[in-house]
This record gives sequence, C-alpha cells and structure tokens, in this order.
Amino acid sequence: MKDSLANADLGAMGRKTMLHPVSSVADLARTGPTLYTRAKGTILEDAAGQEHIDMGAGLWCVNVGYGRPELVEAGAEALRNLSYQHHFGNSAAKDTVRLSERLVQLFAENAGAGHLNRVFYGTSGSDANDTAYKLVRYYNNLRGKPAKKKIISRIGSYHGLTAAATSLTGIDAYHKMFDLPLPDVLHTSCPHFYRYAENGESEAQFSARMVRDLENLIEREGPETIGAFIAEPVMGTGGVFLPPPGYFAKVQALLDKHDILLIADEVITGFGRLGHWFGTGAFDLKPDIVSLAKGLTSAYFPMSASMISDRVYDVLAAKSDETGAFMHGFTYSGHPVGSAIALANIDVIERENLVEQASEAGSYLLRALRQATADTPFVGDVRGMGLMIGIEYVADKATNTPFPEGTAPHKVVSKHAFDHGVLPRALPFLPVNSFSPPLNISREEMDEGVARFAHALEAAGPDLEKLQG
Ligand code: PMP
Repeated sequence: MKDSLANADLGAMGRKTMLHPVSSVADLARTGPTLYTRAKGTILEDAAGQEHIDMGAGLWCVNVGYGRPELVEAGAEALRNLSYQHHFGNSAAKDTVRLSERLVQLFAENAGAGHLNRVFYGTSGSDANDTAYKLVRYYNNLRGKPAKKKIISRIGSYHGLTAAATSLTGIDAYHKMFDLPLPDVLHTSCPHFYRYAENGESEAQFSARMVRDLENLIEREGPETIGAFIAEPVMGTGGVFLPPPGYFAKVQALLDKHDILLIADEVITGFGRLGHWFGTGAFDLKPDIVSLAKGLTSAYFPMSASMISDRVYDVLAAKSDETGAFMHGFTYSGHPVGSAIALANIDVIERENLVEQASEAGSYLLRALRQATADTPFVGDVRGMGLMIGIEYVADKATNTPFPEGTAPHKVVSKHAFDHGVLPRALPFLPVNSFSPPLNISREEMDEGVARFAHALEAAGPDLEKLQG
C-alpha cells in the first residue's frame, strides 16, 4: 500500500517535472508516465505490479536481457578500480584498449572486415553518426577535396537525433520543427519493396530502380561533391525491412566508382540482432565507418563505437603532423566502466551462442507471428531477419491499401498490447509494430508473447475498423 502510494506520487511528479524524448507533450501532461520498477530477462514489471513481455528489448538494445549478474559485476568492479579515465591526448584505460582489440577482431573474424582497425568511442548512436559526419569532412579536407562532403541518406532511415544525426535521419517528422536537415545532407528513395513497388515491379526491378535513383542523385549533384552514403543494413525505425535482392552489391559498386565512403549504421543490427554478428558480414558490405551502440553494452551503459577503415585512418595519420590534433571527442569517449561492461557483454554473447540463438529464435518468432496474424484483415505484411521483425498494417489486405493519412493503427494495437502484458514497439514512419526481444528469449516467452499479442489484435479490431475511413 505504502509502495503504491509512493508510485502514484512519483507518477504525478513525473508528469509535472519531465520533458520526455520523442513523445507527445500534451499526452504526457494528461496521463503522466507509466512507471517501470524492475526487469529480469525479457520481463518488465510496472509500478502496478503488472508484468510485460518486452518484445522491444527496450529500444532494440537489451540484447542479452535484463538483470545479468555478469554485466552488473563487471560494471561494479570497473567502478571500484577506475571509475573514470578520459582518452584525450595520450591517456587510455586498460579495458578500453582491450575492447578496441576485441572489436577489431570481431569484425575481422565474423564480418569479413579486416580493414576496420581503429575504434573511436562516444556515448550514443547519434553521436557515433555525428562522428561519421565529421570524419567525412575531415578526411576529404585532408585529401584536398573540400567540396566532397555531402552525405546521402535514405528516406525512412533513422540515424539519431543530434543536429547532424537528425539531418541524416530520413523521416520528416523529426526535421520540420527544427529547420533541419542541414543543407549538405541529401535523401534518396526508400528501398521498401512491400510499400513502394510500382505497378507489378518485381523485387529485382525495384532493387535496380532504387540504385538508379541513387545514381541519378549522385550525377545530378556531381560525384565530386558527394563524400559518403549512410545506410542501416536492415532499416529499423523506418519500418523493419530488408534490402531488396542485389541492392547493396550494386550500391557498393556505385560508391566505389565515385570514391564515396560507405557508413554502415549498425546501431541496431550489430551484436547478433540479425542472427549474424554484424550486418556488415550478413550483407557483405565494405564500409569505411561503422556506427555501433545499443547491443555494444546491451544498454547496461551508454556507449557507442565507430569502427574506422585503414583507408580513412591512413589519411588522418599521414597528415597529422601537418594539421595538428584530431579536434573531436567527448568527456566520456572510451569510458572504462562502459568498456568493462561491453567486454562482459561480448563474453555472454559468445559463451551462450546468442548469435545463432537469434537466428533460430527469429525464424521461430517470425513463423509464429505469421500464423497468429494470418486471418487478421489488417495485417498486410510480417517480415524480418533474426530478431528484428516488423508487422505492417493495411486498411485492406487484398489490395494493400494503407490506412488513411493521419491515422495510427499500430499505436492502437500497441495500446491494447500493453493492456495484455506484451510490448511490441509502434514505429514513427510506417504503421508498423516491431518485435526485437532480447536474443536469449525462450520459446515459452515467445509463445506467450505471441498469444498475448494475438488477443490484443483481436481486441483492437473494432478500433481499427473505425480508422479504415
Ligand atoms: N542509428 C540507428 C540505426 C538507430 O536505430 C538509433 C536509435 N534507435 C540511432 C542511430 C541513435 O541512437 P541513440 O538513440 O543512442 O542516439
């Protein structure tokens, strides 16, 4: 009783005192926050004592599940030994050096990327992409190509929300209230076959058209002005969809032809999520910069890493005496506590074979969700790779007609799902619910989560009918 009174007070306080990220200010003022109090494995408990199966792993980040003693211990020990060490100038923390070695090795051994031999650290996926944005400029300035610094991203992509990362993000809703994107960021077509294929196009034709659009944009702008192309191997927040067949091979050839860097944004896809260690290996990419965060520490500590290719690093190294220091970095770059936790996290992923587990669990969950939604008139497409799965809603399944503009069927379903004790995410670009649970989710939890979701979908039926227009 005392606890629940305290929780009610905290809810009221939170409503008065907080501005939440990416949320409706008005809704929060009306309802206040839902307080969560503890989590273990894949189960989150709210302040009312209700348990929820976390089908999102937070924001696609708690890859090894909540409450792992190995990670807690690693963090506690690091805090006791060396609670902080910066990496400005020549200073370094031991665990950060060890982590760098481990990441370089993982990319060489598990992603066919032995050319990524340097690591730069930050604290979020957004700042990793800011680092990429600045590195593209620096690299081309050093090479005497100061005009070559526009970056091409894709409509529907999500790369974070600092000013440069917001610009790279290809979703208008994040731009318009902040006068972004910055003028040197361009967006090309969204390679989502299910939604954007035109008049009977095959997947191969669609894929070729997407690459043609990119090529046309490069040629229109002038290849001498394009520094980089940034892509998530599998697009996440935009709606969870895979690249169409042949897409990345053709994109890579185009980039090589025009001396354009590839930035792989692996903030979601890294560390096993796709049933591969990295999307870089899964899609045979040859990126010059890879952005990592989320699964790097399974969100036990805010940490990002940028993998940097020899080709980029060698230019920085060759010119360093001439140009002076690399004037970029953060107080928390290479934080020793984050590094210790990341090392323990990678140990768990390896020891428990969580990469293979994500592949098997992903196939199982995809099949189960397809079966559970097969007779639902509003579910148009269920797709995914590994434990990155999306369900896209349509007003009419037979014709793939979308719900009317301004409606949000996926948010309606999410609300019912919450009431049924399961948490898929409602995404901001397309009407899609995503499923990206911890990689060690059990069969029983998947079965239970799918059963709860199926009930929620049934309960949402009348509300969805009202949205049909
Ligand atoms: N890139 C991708 C692909 C992401 O999904 C995200 C976060 N969802 C980010 C970058 C930004 O990461 P952060 O929120 O840690 O800044």
